[in-house]
Amino acid sequence: MEGLRLIPASGQSTLTPCSRCESTGCPWDRIGDQTICPDCEEQLALGEGQPLIDRLAPHHCLVCQRQGTVRYLTYPLHGRDPLAIDLCTGHFHDFLGRRLDRYAYRIISRALHGLGLSPKQIFLLHEAFYDERGHPLQPVPEP
Ligand SMILES: [Zn+2]
Ligand SMILES: [Zn+2]
Repeated sequence: MEGLRLIPASGQSTLTPCSRCESTGCPWDRIGDQTICPDCEEQLALGEGQPLIDRLAPHHCLVCQRQGTVRYLTYPLHGRDPLAIDLCTGHFHDFLGRRLDRYAYRIISRALHGLGLSPKQIFLLHEAFYDERGHPLQPVPEP
């Protein structure tokens, strides 16, 4: 599906330490070429730490169809393969900051269901961060 796809495990180690704080333990998300743990993602969402400088991929945003997306991979809980989610920089920052609007949340969760996944399996979308209708519960304030 355009905007969301599973990437069959590429033989790459999933336990690469965080590229910023070097913590290990879980398969962390990848943003561009960097492996980033949830704590460092939070720092990024707060606008702290080194900003991400990255080339955009020529895909279309899952939410708004704008071309030019952040290269982002996440490992769904209990899933085997990493998942690529194509989001433009604006929607990616909302995603990282846990402040997607309901419309965007619904598009993403519908696409996840299409792959047999649930938003609860995606760390940045799980139920502590959004209620079932997609209201943000713990948004990170905009920097
Ligand atoms: Zn880290
Ligand atoms: Zn977008």
